[in-house]
Amino acid sequence: MASINAGSIDALSENFPLCMRNLHRELRKNSHLKHFGRLQYTLFLKGIGLSLQECIVFWRKSFKLIADGNKLWDLCFTIHALTLCTDKFKSEYLYNIRHSYGDVGGDANRRGKGYTPYSCQKLLTEALPSSGQNHGCPYRTYTPDNLSTLLQSVGVSDQKLLREVRDDVGKQRYHIACNKVFESAHKPELKKVQDQKLWPASELDTILHPNTYFKRSFLLKN
Ligand code: SF4
Repeated sequence: MASINAGSIDALSENFPLCMRNLHRELRKNSHLKHFGRLQYTLFLKGIGLSLQECIVFWRKSFKLIADGNKLWDLCFTIHALTLCTDKFKSEYLYNIRHSYGDVGGDANRRGKGYTPYSCQKLLTEALPSSGQNHGCPYRTYTPDNLSTLLQSVGVSDQKLLREVRDDVGKQRYHIACNKVFESAHKPELKKVQDQKLWPASELDTILHPNTYFKRSFLLKN
């Protein structure tokens, strides 16, 4: 896999599962994610191979400061804003990013390693996000109508598939719905690797981890 850096995340987000693509879109829209969203996304980015230094660059560039009430200042807008913003970035983001990578804090077992990216199982069983939070699995956390809108906004237009997704999430088969969306989005590529037996069967098992989704999608599309 090509080396991944802060500048490649926008393009790579096309290969992200809905849980991470949603966080990326929210981050780009608001230049901010709440704590659990940042944690979920940071660990995912770590899992796809983003180094600590590049992860810090990614978040620093994504960050905007809310100052003077409702006024938004870009990170590099003015020297004054830059100072305030850098302080805010350091106090709110930097330690947690380094902690996720095991660069600071934690017990001896995590030193140098940090935390592992969250699996679907974890994301599908943790506490539901409250208003304004975007972490978790959208197949579980979104209403059926909002999920359909979200899926259509990322290019899922097959009405039969959207109905199947709605049916699956109604039966709490969230990861089944996610796998159907994956299979639909990679249909020709999957057919090729299956027909030509290019991958071992284990590489085509049901996806149970967001990082597996990304890796498989990236390999199929590149
Ligand atoms: Fe992400 Fe897993 Fe939910 Fe798919 S099923 S959106 S990979 S948490």
